[in-house]
Amino acid sequence: MPGPIDLHTHSSVSDGTETPAQLVRAAVAAGIGSLALTDHDSTAGWEEARTAASGTGLTLIPGMEFSTRHGWKSVHLLAYLFDPAHGGIIAETAHIREARLRRAENIVARLAVDYDIEWADVVAQTTEGATVGRPHIADALVARGHVPNRSAAFESILHPRSGYFEPHYAPDPLTAVKLVRAAGGVPVLAHPGTRGRDAVLPERELKALVDAGLFGLEIHHRENTASGRERLYELAAQFGLAITGSSDYHGEGKPNRLGENTTEPAVLARIIAEATGSAPFHA
Ligand code: AMP
Ligand code: FE
Ligand code: FE
Ligand code: ZN
Repeated sequence: MPGPIDLHTHSSVSDGTETPAQLVRAAVAAGIGSLALTDHDSTAGWEEARTAASGTGLTLIPGMEFSTRHGWKSVHLLAYLFDPAHGGIIAETAHIREARLRRAENIVARLAVDYDIEWADVVAQTTEGATVGRPHIADALVARGHVPNRSAAFESILHPRSGYFEPHYAPDPLTAVKLVRAAGGVPVLAHPGTRGRDAVLPERELKALVDAGLFGLEIHHRENTASGRERLYELAAQFGLAITGSSDYHGEGKPNRLGENTTEPAVLARIIAEATGSAPFHA
């Protein structure tokens, strides 16, 4: 499996702007060797991505970015090569997607008091069955001319302190780690150092996740700060966790480019060796 390894990308099945097939073609064009499709709370893009990867030489790692919540803090968990038919995963992700939809409707209802926007604007920015998130609301705000792009929307109108925000239901990280392992998958904490060294999760909490089967930390990610990374290196060494890196590509929805951060081949080999729920696709 030669070529750079990018283990965190999104398609229009969640908040990426390209279909799974377009994403796979973009990865092939960018010279990526192994690509994980990790849409938020959904595996609905796996099959289309597999079909598109067929015959290209690309190795596709089916994955997902699992929304979890610890108190008020949103924690993202990357899950690789689990069984998408596992009942617990199906039930939990359906619950989250439903809660995301209700929450997005609530946010838009509050926005509609002050801005010219309605729910249909958000639906117009979302593909059928997609996991709905603030990025779709951002796209609707852009389409209505209220902000120039997604990033501007997140920095202003959609910011948690804007007054329009609300969180959505998500399981706690420990429940999610256990579920991913129960489904034969390999769990990695996504971008755990975005708010600096002191906001990285406490040792005691990390230990509980490690005991439940946490495999690694996504340290090489553009949003982890320098001090956050420093702390994560210490924790990875202390708990024997693997280190991954990835782009968190969202198509045109974010500046992140495919392959801008990558994972060592030996780490991917260990992920594949530990997983029992699904196989990587290569043809
Ligand atoms: P939500 O899960 O609905 O709260 O929305 C969070 C999602 O928005 C994340 O998964 C990111 O992909 C995306 N996001 C967060 N900040 C930004 C930003 N500044 N620009 C574009 N997308 C963002
Ligand atoms: Fe996202
Ligand atoms: Fe994330
Ligand atoms: Zn992501």
